[in-house]
Parts: sequence; C-alpha cells; structure tokens
Amino acid sequence: MDAVDHTIYKSLLESTKAIPWKIDWASKQFSYVGPQIEQLLGWPPSSWRTVEDWVNRIHPDDREVVMNFCLEKSMLGEDHEADYRALTAEGGYVWIRDVVHVIRKQDGTPEALVGFMFDINERKLTEERLAEMQKKLEEYSYKDGLTGVANRRMFDAALDQAWINACREQSPLSLIMIDIDYFKEYNDYYGHLQGDEALKHVAQVLNHAGTRSKDFFARFGGEEFALILPEANVFAAKSIAERCRNLIFKAQIAHAKSNISQLLSISVGVGTIIPTTKDDPMQFVDSVDALLYQAKRHGRNRVFCNDACG
Ligand code: GH3
Ligand code: MG
Ligand code: MG
Repeated sequence: MDAVDHTIYKSLLESTKAIPWKIDWASKQFSYVGPQIEQLLGWPPSSWRTVEDWVNRIHPDDREVVMNFCLEKSMLGEDHEADYRALTAEGGYVWIRDVVHVIRKQDGTPEALVGFMFDINERKLTEERLAEMQKKLEEYSYKDGLTGVANRRMFDAALDQAWINACREQSPLSLIMIDIDYFKEYNDYYGHLQGDEALKHVAQVLNHAGTRSKDFFARFGGEEFALILPEANVFAAKSIAERCRNLIFKAQIAHAKSNISQLLSISVGVGTIIPTTKDDPMQFVDSVDALLYQAKRHGRNRVFCNDACG
C-alpha cells in the first residue's frame, strides 16, 4: 500500500461517526484511536493509552461482564460486539456498541484487536423508554385508573385462579360483593368529581379489609367492589363483610342525600362455595350479586349471605 492510500484510509476512518481503534494484544496498548472519540466522550485520543484506560471508563455495572466477554472472545479469536455505558469526561455515561475484529497470528493467537465504537445512546434510551412504557401499559391494564386497585380484568383472572385452587383442594371459596348505597344521589348532590373522590376513599378503605395475603380486592365496576377470600368459610367471610361495613362507617364520609343516614354506606352480599367441575365461577358471581341486591331490598347498609350463616 502506498502513502496516498494511507491518507485516503485515514481520512475515511476519521470522517465516520463510528470511532475506529486498535489495541496491540501483547502490550495491551492502544496503537490508534480515532479523534472522534473526543467529541463523543470528551477524553482526548492521547488519554487512551492502555486497555486499562478503556476498562476504567466502563460503567461499574457493565465492566466485569463486558471485560470477561471480550477477553474470552479475543482469546478464542472470535469477532464480537458488546454494548456498555462509557464514562464521559464530564462524569456522565453514553451507551456504546463496540464491534471488535480479532487479528490473529499464524498460530491463531491474537495479534491485535481492531474495532469501531458506535454511539447507540439514543437507541438505548428509546429502548429503555419503550420498556418503561410497556411496563406501565401492563400495569394499567390490570389496575383501575381511578382508584388504583385491581380492575375487573384482574378480578376475573384472580377469581379463575382461586376457583381452580378451591376445586383442586376442595376448600371453601368466599366472595364478597359490595355496592355503595344511593351513589347516584351522592353524585347528583356533590358532583361527579367529588363522587370520584368518594370512590377512591372507599376503595382505599376496603383494600385493607381482607386480612390474609391471599385475599384479593378489586373494583368490579362503577361503584361496585369485590373481595375474593380463598379458604374462607361462610362465617369467616361474613365477619370480613361486617368489617367492610364498619370500616366504611368509621370513615364517616358525609352523604347528606342518603335515604337511610347522613353517612355514606354500603350494601354487601356474601357467598361461599366448595366448587366442583360442574360449577361455573360466573354463576357464582351472579348468585352473590343476587344476595347483594337482597341486602338493597331489605333496607341497604347491611350484609346479606346465603342461609347457612344465619
Ligand atoms: P343503590 O343504593 O340501589 O345502589 O343506588 P345507587 O344510586 O348507588 O345505584 P345506581 O346503580 O342507580 O347508581 C350508581 C351510580 O354510580 C351511578 C353512576 O353515575 C355512579 N358511578 C359509577 N361509576 C362512577 C365513577 O367512576 N365516578 C362517579 N363519580 N360515579 C360513578
Ligand atoms: Mg349503588
Ligand atoms: Mg351499583
């Protein structure tokens, strides 16, 4: 190769966005780093002397993995690439993709490493933002947007799981359905926004009514909530239902237009089943909902359960 070619190659290498470099294997010294490195990371090319300078400028969380990976691949004579965060002179980090080619001696051992560093910061940050958004979307799809408790979709999934367990173990499964009394009047009198606040308050209070980690509380829809109580018999479930009613009473949420008191109250239906394969979870939900509406018909602000619990 003559001198003219060298000039062409050098100017080509130094005009790309990718940053070229070369390390001699025996001495572990940089024999070349493109001047573009200074623009990207702020460190002048003269500060890249040995492989140590490279290692020390890798983010501590990436350092060991990247170092071991590159070392292993280089010893095997395999070309490779690694993503890591590189320290900038200002103390920040930039995501880099280092693409490495191993120049080998006749006996196969490495003679030098040459490579390009690519600035992949924007891409990585976009990926991170997308992953974050994906996580939020998943969370939102199971969380009720207003109250922050589990939504109907999550309720259906939790009930299915509890149902399968109860079928298998032949253990009782209880369900509590809760509906706010005269909530239409509440909205009409206090306005929809305060109605929303009341719903949030009720959800927050009832979210702690179940005492065991298996108990599962959700907004069933509108101003209706549900509590799944795995392995709770009808007596245990009824006592939790009464606790729900008491917790709401203790919250003392004013409801000037309720027909039964000056405070916001709830009506509650409680059902228990030891399900078999012949039973259907949605039918069970309907039967508990029917008990809830019996509580409404019998004057509201009360708990209604199937005959067994008296
Ligand atoms: P009952 O005692 O028989 O339950 O009477 P109710 O007025 O509570 O029952 P109804 O089903 O007639 O009304 C429920 C009300 O709940 C009507 C609806 O506007 C209100 N509601 C449902 N979802 C929301 C919500 O997200 N925010 C607000 N503010 N109100 C809601
Ligand atoms: Mg209601
Ligand atoms: Mg209702």
